[in-house]
Amino acid sequence: MGLGVKQKIAGTVTTAKKVSWRRQARLNPHGVVLMYHRITTPSADPWELAVTPENFAAQLEVLRHFGAVRPLCELAPEETGAPHRQIAITFDDGYLDNLDAGLPILQAAGMPATMFISAGYTGSENRFWWDTLVQIFLETDQLPERMDIRLGSTRRVFKIGKSPSPARRQKMILTIWKDLVELDAQAIQDGVQRIADWAGVSRKATPQDRAMTLAEVQRLAGSGQIEIGGHTLSHPALTLVPPETAAREIAEGRAALRDWTGQPVESFAYPYGMHDDATASFVRDAGFKRSCTVLPGIATSATDPFRIPRLHVKNWPADEFEKQISSYVGR
Ligand SMILES: [Zn+2]
Repeated sequence: MGLGVKQKIAGTVTTAKKVSWRRQARLNPHGVVLMYHRITTPSADPWELAVTPENFAAQLEVLRHFGAVRPLCELAPEETGAPHRQIAITFDDGYLDNLDAGLPILQAAGMPATMFISAGYTGSENRFWWDTLVQIFLETDQLPERMDIRLGSTRRVFKIGKSPSPARRQKMILTIWKDLVELDAQAIQDGVQRIADWAGVSRKATPQDRAMTLAEVQRLAGSGQIEIGGHTLSHPALTLVPPETAAREIAEGRAALRDWTGQPVESFAYPYGMHDDATASFVRDAGFKRSCTVLPGIATSATDPFRIPRLHVKNWPADEFEKQISSYVGR
């Protein structure tokens, strides 16, 4: 999840870099890997993770003319006679709406996709932790006037007052997100529980924001249209947790998905896009063949298969999507 925040962490992309992708795009056939998270209409979406079913269908229509949509594992810009523009569609996290709303639209369009699933959330009664923060800070009208909560080793105090402005709410959610993201899985769950108790908000997911169950992941895998990819167990920041935790999260997430689906699990996406040389080698050692980041760029034959860049697709209608993807790859 969470590209808005991820971009802030990763730093902004310079114009010079953009120019060099475009030059690359003109010189080589290339691949564009699209990153989606959710196909739904949420009430608040601070990280722009959701695309409505209507816009998703319209975006796939644009892709039909734009290039050849291929499974991520078959993206091969270097192939002789390959289409000039190849596109792969990916989804992160494993939300139920990927199956309920995303799959039928992909099926109607006859397009494959890769869905990266955080196996530890599969079947969870609770929301993904960042969605509980949205529920608390953006969707709860009346918050207590003061918060004083320990998150890991940080004591976070907010004087909230009677009616915090939307900007103040955005600032609070971002601060708490940053406090939590660097903690281990249990500390994140404990921290979110403390904040939920303070706000009087339940962590229990609804059909609108829950992760898939095991049976639902199996249905997705059995559709014949979706490649299931790894996204760890608990969605930790792999560069911030201890190396042995990172390696275990990557390997056990893959093992669970293989057991559940009986299919090979060869593609991975770094949670929050956070990766470094050590994480990339854990992913390779676990048996994955490729891995996606959240950094923008195009994939060519020169791209490191463990650092595949992606375009974060937002809730753009067809004309805006066409404009965005065209300017992204160059003409
Ligand atoms: Zn994710």
